[in-house]
Amino acid sequence: MYYQELDFWSKLWKQSEEYGFLKECPAHILQQKLRDLERAFRDAFDKKQPNKRLPTFKKRGLNDSFRFPEPKQIKLEYQHITLPKLGKIRFYRSCDIVGEMKNVTVSRQAGHWYISIQVEHELESQTTTISSQSIGLDLGIKHFVTTSDGEHQAPINSFRQHEKRLAKLQRELSRKKRFSFNWKKQTRKIAKLHQKIANIRRDFQHKLSTELCKNHALIVVEDLKIKNMSRSASGVSENPGKNVSAKSGLNKSILDQGWYEFRRQLEYKSYWRGGIVVEVNPQYTSQRCSHCQHIDAKNRQTQEKFVCLKCSSEMNADVNAAKNILAAGHAVMACGARA
Ligand SMILES: [Zn+2]
Repeated sequence: MYYQELDFWSKLWKQSEEYGFLKECPAHILQQKLRDLERAFRDAFDKKQPNKRLPTFKKRGLNDSFRFPEPKQIKLEYQHITLPKLGKIRFYRSCDIVGEMKNVTVSRQAGHWYISIQVEHELESQTTTISSQSIGLDLGIKHFVTTSDGEHQAPINSFRQHEKRLAKLQRELSRKKRFSFNWKKQTRKIAKLHQKIANIRRDFQHKLSTELCKNHALIVVEDLKIKNMSRSASGVSENPGKNVSAKSGLNKSILDQGWYEFRRQLEYKSYWRGGIVVEVNPQYTSQRCSHCQHIDAKNRQTQEKFVCLKCSSEMNADVNAAKNILAAGHAVMACGARA
């Protein structure tokens, strides 16, 4: 058992000079962290979880967070919370807390402290308020989302501007002496901006996913895992420029994160409203004509323009793809109903 062993060692660490700061926090918080670590090691060696990696070393002051596992020791009032060893703390209640409190996590991000309270609460799904409409979504680089109704949602522009500023701050940082006062100040600035960018992205995704789930009972998206495999080559030719190979890898990972998070939001929000999100194979969705089903790579003349070689329908390439995705989703639903 890792945990028992770690617990034994932690008692010795607390006595030492180097790790004496561990004594400052409540014992069960440390135990909770050790349990997390044990699970991380188990997951890393679990062959059923291929995406898990070995835990990396952490340092005091980086990614600070700790969890209070015992709800009995916590007292919650409207704008105050009482935590073991820390006492009564004032906090800003950003949303209603309903249900039974399970645990409380305190974390620090870019100089601000946050409290997250995990609760258990049964939710009734609102099957009555849902509309019967369905929609297909094409996720892309130029347009974050294109719908089968022909609407585009551009990626957030303010995000780009912040990215430029981020690059500038990072250049400035590289000219500063490591661990000097100015260096530390600059790293704090960078952390703040990182968080701002993350907040903007999250806000954008939440608004969009709420809007889509509110108005559609069936949402069809592409299977992102297959999409990414087939996309790697085209991503480079769309965007020829300097450092394409290095950059596209980075951009890709940033974008993908956005897509996965967006789809996760769609899924749980649909579930809440009694709707459904269906995944389809993205194969040929960009080459097939949504009007006559003719498949040809030459149908897609440019990134934007789709002209069918057979029936000469002309439309926006992303809208055509979104329409194909919706049709594939309907086919999946029909098969499921028959089975
Ligand atoms: Zn056609």
